[in-house]
Formats: sequence, structure tokens, C-alpha cells
Amino acid sequence: MLKLKLHWQILIALFVAVLYGMFFPEEVGYVKWMGDIFLRGLRMIIVPLILTSIISGVANIGDAHNLGRLGLKTFAYYISTSFFAILTGLILVNLIKPGIGADLGLTTEVPELTATSGDLGEVIMRMIPTNIFDALASADMLAIIFFSILVGYFITKVDDKYKVLFTDIFNGGFEVMMKLTHFVILFTPLGILGIVAGVVADQADNLTSLVGSLGMYMLAVLLGLFFHAFVTLPLIVKFVAKANPWKHFNAMSAPLLTAFSTSSSSATLPLTMDAVENNSGVSNKITSFVLPLGATVNMDGTAIYECVAAMFIAQAYGIDLSFLQQMIVVVTALLASIGAAGIPMAGLVMISVILSAVGLPLEGVGLILAVDRFLDMCRTTVNVWSDSCGAVTIAKSEGETLKV
Ligand code: ASP
Repeated sequence: MLKLKLHWQILIALFVAVLYGMFFPEEVGYVKWMGDIFLRGLRMIIVPLILTSIISGVANIGDAHNLGRLGLKTFAYYISTSFFAILTGLILVNLIKPGIGADLGLTTEVPELTATSGDLGEVIMRMIPTNIFDALASADMLAIIFFSILVGYFITKVDDKYKVLFTDIFNGGFEVMMKLTHFVILFTPLGILGIVAGVVADQADNLTSLVGSLGMYMLAVLLGLFFHAFVTLPLIVKFVAKANPWKHFNAMSAPLLTAFSTSSSSATLPLTMDAVENNSGVSNKITSFVLPLGATVNMDGTAIYECVAAMFIAQAYGIDLSFLQQMIVVVTALLASIGAAGIPMAGLVMISVILSAVGLPLEGVGLILAVDRFLDMCRTTVNVWSDSCGAVTIAKSEGETLKV
């Protein structure tokens, strides 16, 4: 039997899902459950996967010196790429000026948004769990990452007898979780069919917003995402990492399509880790450190979007932002992208942080709501792509030989 590669299966699923959602919006319940099961499967593995992979990764890195160097490189990559991303957004939004003359009548009610993200100070504080079981139970990523790094590190500090025992346990646990991940990944095409059909059926009414001034706003965000994904990041992979960006892109096709379909970097994490390790050839030591952290704090796509959206709202209200205010937008967009959780619509919630920082009306969020789901899909894809490029760049800088 012809065995199609996973990314082809996903592409076919996407195509069928779009047609199904468009032509049978009433019957979408027949396929939507597959998406729900798939997402539950992914969520089921995220916490144990992160826990075992980070503990085993850090325990294998060993000394504090190596760990510190890796941490520093990771943060340097995250901050600099997010900064490039925002700059791209800022330039485009000033050139295109999508908000000038936008129709404020479009304002829709802002639904109750759950508080999934907080400001930066709070985010840092929340990193330290008061009760690790609570953090595990509520899938509080940063807290789990922080705790796992410490456990991994201190495993290397105990007696050899226990060190070997615990390293084995967590290495073994990680192997099991990866096997389980492979199993869940088998269902990706069906899951995506269910998710995307549901989204298309839901969003059919919003299609009219694609024309007019929201169209220009979308164009500015999409151009920014495109430039960052296809120019900035590949240049980094090519010249800093000295790897082949195109080969790496191909290696990442399944997680990128999944990020697009699910709008969640966290839910995509198991697939991202699998692809970066098995297709691009990055060691577990690096992936287990860089990727879970990246899925939570490194969001280049979200950063571009935050900046363009805030500037668009300012333009739509006819408020001219001074240079200083635009710099505040840049800094808060960076913080917002770090603070946003890797779940659908997290970026939209964070816009309000920027709006209040520069004194723009909070109702402005209502202006961009109609097209947010589609932009969320696109920016999440760029978020995951940037994480994976970071893993490749850092692996190369550590002297690893990769498959890309
Ligand atoms: N959905 C995005 C993600 O998971 C975050 C956002 O809303 O911008 O990466």
C-alpha cells in the first residue's frame, strides 16, 4: 500500500477539512470529535514529556558551567530573534498604515477572556512553584520547567549510586514518553481534519472582514510573519548555524502544519521535539532544554502580531504615537510575547497589556477580533519555526553534527 509521508497526509487532511467546514458547517460535529480526541492526546503527554525530557537532558549535561552556557545562548537567541521580529512588524505597520481610515463600526464585543497570561513580574514569580504537584496538575509550564532543571542538575550532585539510578529512571521515562508521542502523532491527520473543519465552519461569517481595512491589517501581520519566517530565521540558520534552512524546514513540516492547525505551540511541542530530534538530528540534551522553554517564552510570530495590532488600533483611533511611545510598544510587545502562554488566543489577551502601557482604549481589541483566529494559526506556526531554528543554531554552536 502506498504510504504517504506524514506531512502529505496532514496537507490532504487540511484540504478536506476546509472543504468540509465550508460546505457542511451544520454537520461539523461528525468530524470535530476527532480533533478533540487528538488535542486531549497531546495535552495528556505534554507534562510528563517535559518533566522527563528536561530532567534527563539536564542530568546528561552535567556541570553548571555547560548548563549556564546553554542557558545564556538560548536566551540570547530568543531575545534577539523576538526583537528582529518586532522591528519587522514596526517597519511594516508604519509603511502600510493599515489603521488609517479603518471602520471603527466593526467593533465586536470582546468575549470574556480567561486570564492565561500575566505581566512579566508575575510570570517570573510564577516560575517558582509553591507546590510542584499543583504545578504539574495545572500544567503550569514555566514552573514545571524551573523545577525540572533544578532536579536534573541536582541529580548530578548526589552519590554515584543514586545518580546512576535517577539518570536511568528519567532517561527511561523519556524514552517511553517519546514512544507514546510517536503513537499520538499517528493520529495527527485525523485530528487536524477535525480541528480545522470546526474552525472553518465557525469562522465562515468572518470571511467578509478579510476585505477592507482589516484586510490591510492582516496583510501587514502576514507580511511580517512571512519575512521573519522566510528571510530572517533562514539567514540565521544559514549564516550563524551554518546549516541548511530548507532541509530543516522540510524536516519540520509536520509540526509546522500542526501548529497552524491547532494554534498552540504547547500542544505542538511533542511533535516539535520529535521532528527536531529525529529529522534534524539535534541531540536530546539540546532539544529538551531549548524547545519546552521556547514553546513557552519564545514567540516571534506573536511578537510581530502584538506590535502590528497595537499600532493598528492606535491608527484606527486616529492617535499618533510618538517615537517614545512606539518604543514602549516595542518593549511591551517583547514582554507580551514572553508572557503569552502557548495556547490559542493568548496573544490577543496580551494586546491589552500594550494598549494600557501606551494609553490606548482597551476596546480596541474588539477591532481585530474577527480575524484573530486565522492570524493566531499563522503566528503560532512562526513561533514553532523559530523555536526549532533556535534548537538547530544552538546545537551547531555546541559542535553537534546535524542531519540538516
Ligand atoms: N497561539 C499562540 C501560540 O500558542 C500564542 C498567541 O496567541 O499568540 O504560540
